[in-house]
Amino acid sequence: MSLKELNERVSAARKETEARGETFYPGPSRIHLAAFPPKERWDDWVELDSRAWPERRERRYMLVPTTCFNCESACGLLAYVDKETLGVQKFEGNPEHPGSRGRNCAKGPATLNQVTDPDRILFPLKRAGGRGEGKWVQVAWDEALEDIAARIRKAIREGRHNEVMYHVGRPGEDGFTERILASWGVDGHNSHTNICSSSARAGYQFWMGLDRPSPDHANARVILLISSHLESGHYFNPHAQRVMDAKAEGAKLIVFDTRLSHTATHADVWVSPQPGSEAAILLAVANYLIQNGLYEREFVRRWWNWEEYMAVEHPELETSFEGFEEILKNLYAEYTFDYAAREAGVPARQIEEVAQIVSTAGTRFSSHNWRSAASGNSGGWQVARTLFLLNALLGAVATEGGVFPNAWNKFVPKPIYTPPHPPRWNELTWPREYPLAMNELSFLLPHFLKDGRGHLDVYFTRVYNPVWTNPDGFSWIEALQDESAIGCYVALTPTWNETAYFADYVLPMGHGSERHDIHSYETHDSQWLGFRQPVLRAARERQGEQIKDTREVNPGEVWEENEFWLELTWRIDPDGSLGIRKFAESQKSPGERLGVDEYYAYIFENSVPGLPERAAREGLTPLQFMRRYGAFEISRKTGALYEQEVPADELEDFRVDRFGRVYTRTPKPASVNVVPIPVLDGDSEGRRFVGVRDGERILRGFPTPSGRLEFYSKTLADWGWHEYAVPTYIKSHVHPDKLNPDQSVLISTFRLPVQIHTRSANAKWLDEIAHTNPLWIHTTHARSLRVKTGDLVRVETETGYFVVKAWVTEGIRPGVVACSHHMGRWKLHEEGQRQLMATVALEREGSEWSLRRERGTSGYESPDPDTARIWWADVGVHQNLTFPVHPDPVSGMHCWHQAVRVRKAEADDRHGDIHVDTEKSREVYRAWLQFTRPADLHSPDGTRRPYWLLRPLKPAREFYRLPAQEELSPEGA
Ligand code: SF4
Repeated sequence: MSLKELNERVSAARKETEARGETFYPGPSRIHLAAFPPKERWDDWVELDSRAWPERRERRYMLVPTTCFNCESACGLLAYVDKETLGVQKFEGNPEHPGSRGRNCAKGPATLNQVTDPDRILFPLKRAGGRGEGKWVQVAWDEALEDIAARIRKAIREGRHNEVMYHVGRPGEDGFTERILASWGVDGHNSHTNICSSSARAGYQFWMGLDRPSPDHANARVILLISSHLESGHYFNPHAQRVMDAKAEGAKLIVFDTRLSHTATHADVWVSPQPGSEAAILLAVANYLIQNGLYEREFVRRWWNWEEYMAVEHPELETSFEGFEEILKNLYAEYTFDYAAREAGVPARQIEEVAQIVSTAGTRFSSHNWRSAASGNSGGWQVARTLFLLNALLGAVATEGGVFPNAWNKFVPKPIYTPPHPPRWNELTWPREYPLAMNELSFLLPHFLKDGRGHLDVYFTRVYNPVWTNPDGFSWIEALQDESAIGCYVALTPTWNETAYFADYVLPMGHGSERHDIHSYETHDSQWLGFRQPVLRAARERQGEQIKDTREVNPGEVWEENEFWLELTWRIDPDGSLGIRKFAESQKSPGERLGVDEYYAYIFENSVPGLPERAAREGLTPLQFMRRYGAFEISRKTGALYEQEVPADELEDFRVDRFGRVYTRTPKPASVNVVPIPVLDGDSEGRRFVGVRDGERILRGFPTPSGRLEFYSKTLADWGWHEYAVPTYIKSHVHPDKLNPDQSVLISTFRLPVQIHTRSANAKWLDEIAHTNPLWIHTTHARSLRVKTGDLVRVETETGYFVVKAWVTEGIRPGVVACSHHMGRWKLHEEGQRQLMATVALEREGSEWSLRRERGTSGYESPDPDTARIWWADVGVHQNLTFPVHPDPVSGMHCWHQAVRVRKAEADDRHGDIHVDTEKSREVYRAWLQFTRPADLHSPDGTRRPYWLLRPLKPAREFYRLPAQEELSPEGA
C-alpha cells in the first residue's frame, strides 16, 4: 500500500470514528491491529516477559494512568504496574488522553529512569555546614515542617508577608500553589516565565487579551512556525503530531529558524533569518496582504479596534473603514520584500514566496511563536504581535485551522476553596520599572536584593534551578550565600541541582508518577482535563487498600507538593487564629486537614461539566473515573466564542459607548471555569463590560479593553510606549547595527528533543543519547578562525567567557553561532547526579568567579548496573553563567541572544572553563534598567500596572495604586 493510500485510509477511519463521537487512535494499527491495550483490559493486561525469552513467560499488569512531568505538555502516560511486585515496569502513552492521543516523546517513557535513579534525593535534608559546603544531615519531615511553618507564621504575624516567596520553574498544575499563597495573604508568587515566554505572551495579550495562542494545526492549510515545534516547541508532542497530520493532508509548512532544526528539515520553506529580523519579514508579508487587498476585509472591519485607533490617533479625519484602510497601507508601505531581505539577510524572492503561500491559507492559517525569536531579542514581543497580525488580517482567529486564544481551548475547574486576593503588593517581583511586564522580574532578584530593595525570610524554589537555568548564575550564588538577604532557603526538588547545594533544606518531591496535579492545555480546539497521580497509590487502591498519605507509596520519604502545602498551611496556623487554616480544612470532617482525595473529588464532582454523568455510566465516582483513565474531554470544537450572542437576561439596563462597547448591570454569572480572564473596567456608573455591539446584535467579543482585537493598544500608548502601540518592528539588542565587526550573535536557547532543562539529567536513556552541547559554527566562519570540529573555542560575552568545543556545520547562518540549552551540569561535591554532572572547582576573588572542571562523568557502581556502563565523560558547558541580565523594558523578558566574540581557545583553556566578573553583571543590569519607563513617571492613572493585564497571583485592586511620594523607600522600591 502506498503512503498516500495509507493516509487516505487513516483519514477515512478517523472521520468515521469521530463521527461516532469516539476517540480516534491515530496510526495504521487502528485499522488492523490494536495500537494500545483496550481500556477494558487495564486491570489485567498480559505481556510476555522479554527477559525470559525464549521462554514464553507471562507477566500481568495493572495499567494506571498519570501524566508526564518532563515538559509543559503533560502528555498522558500509562504505568505498567506489575501485579506481583507492585513495581512499575514501564511507561507508555495513554490513548485516553485527548491531547497526546497515546503518543509520547522519548522523555515520557524515561520517567522510569527518574523514578529508579540511584542518585535521587529520598529523605529531607538540612544543611550542616556553610551554604554550598555540601554538608547535610537527614531530618524528619516533622522537624522541617515545624521550623519552616514557625518562620512563616512569625513573618505573617509581624506583617513581613513580602519576605515569603515561592519561586516555581515548571508549575505542572493549574493554580494550586497560587491559592495556597493567597490563603497565607502573601503576594509571594515568583515564576520562571520571564526567562521563558513573557515576550510571546505580551505579543498575544496586547492583541487578544489572553496571553497564549492555541493553533489548530491539524486543520490548517498553511502553518508558520517560529520555533522548532516538531522536536521541542511549546506543547511539543501534542502539537507536533497535529502539524504532521496537517502535512499528511497537504498543508504547507513554513519555518523561521536561523538553525537547521529538525523542524526546519520538514519545512516546505525554511527561512534562516538574521536573529531578531523576524518581525521585519512578517511585516513584509503583512504589507503584501494589505497592499494587494488579500486580507479578510469584513473580519478586519468587524473585529479590529480600528475605530478607537482612528479616534485617538487621527481625530482630524472622519472615521471610516475605508479611511483606516488607506492609513493601514501607508503604515506598512516601507516593509517591502527588499527591506525585509536586507534586514534578514535572506533573498527577497524567498520572503515573497512565503507571502504568497500565506495568502492562500484563507482562515486556515495556524502560526506559533513561543520562545525562539520572541525570547531571544529585545522587542521580541513584537515578533509574536506581528505574527498574529497575519492571523488577524486573514481572519484566521478561532476558525478551523486558525489560532484561538488559549483560554477557549483550556479548562480550569473551580477548586474547593478560592482564597481572596492578597492585600499587598510585592515590589521584589513586580517592580514599578516594569508596569507592563507579563510576569515577575524573577531573574533580577539577586540584583534587587543587592540593591537593598528587600529581604527574604523564607524562599522556596520548586522544580527550579536558578543558578543554572537563569542568566548570571554567579550573582545568584552571591545572593544565596548572603544569609542577611535570604534567611532560609528551601529547595523542593526530586533531584540534586546547582541551586539546591546552597539551600538550608532540601525536601524530596515526587516525579510525574508520584504526585497529584490537574491540568488542561491548549493542545487543539477542545477542552480537556488531565489528572496526574501517584500511580502506586492508585494501583494499591484498586486492590482495596486505603492510602492516606502519598509518602506511603513513594520511595524513601519522597512526598508530593499538594499534601506538603496543605500540611504546611495547617501548621502555620494551628489554631486558626490567623484565618489561614480554614483553607486547608476538610469540609467532610471539620477539624481535620484536607486530604487530596477530598480535594480532587470535590473538583471532579462539582466543577467539571459532564464528568459525573460519564463516570456514572461506568458505575464509577468522578474521582474513580479520573484515577482509572487519567483524562476527560469536556468539549470539542469550541469555535469562535467572540461571535456568541450575549443573552438578553445578561443585559439589564445596558449602555453602549461610542466604540460599541456594551456595559450591563447584570451581575457576572457564576462560572465553573476559572481560567484567568482579564478583569476589564466597567463604566463610570458601575456597570460591567459584557460585550460589543455588532449591528443589531451584542456579541461576547474579545477580553481586551476595547472588546475587539487590538491592532492598536491604547494600553501601550497610555503607559509610555506610544511608538509601539501598533504591530511594528523593533531592532534587537543584537541587530547588526549594534555589533562590532568582530562580534557574532550567539543563540543559546534551543532545546534538544531528549532533554529538558535540568530535570532530565537523571534519565540514563536520555543522557546516553544527548550529553553535550558543542558550538554550532558555520563552515566559513570556522575557516576564518582556523577552527575545525572538536577544537576548543572561547566565547566571550559582556561579563566573561566560556570554553566549548566547536561543531562546524552548514546548518546555521554564517556569522551566527548556537549552543544548546540543557547541558553543562555541575556539582561541587560528590553528592549529586552522577550521570550528567561534572565535578568542578569553583573559585572567587572579589567579583571575579571561575569554574573549572575537575572530573567529567564516568561509570560507577550502584543498584542499577547500567551506571557502571556510562561511557561518556563530556557533559557540555554551562553557558548561561556568562550571560548578564537583559530585561526587555516592556515585557520584562530576559533577552537571551548574546553579542559575543568567538576565538580560538588559549593554550591553558580547558573545555568547560567559565570566567565571569559579577561587577560587570551589575553594570549591565543598571544599563538595562535605564531603558524602562517606570509607572511612577508613565502611569496614566496613578496605578502600578494596568489592572486588566494578567498576573498569576493578583493582589486586591486597591493595592494596584502607587504609594504617595512620601511613602517611597530611599531605593524607590
Ligand atoms: S512532549 Fe514529551 S516530555 Fe513533554 S509531556 Fe509529552 S512525553 Fe512528556
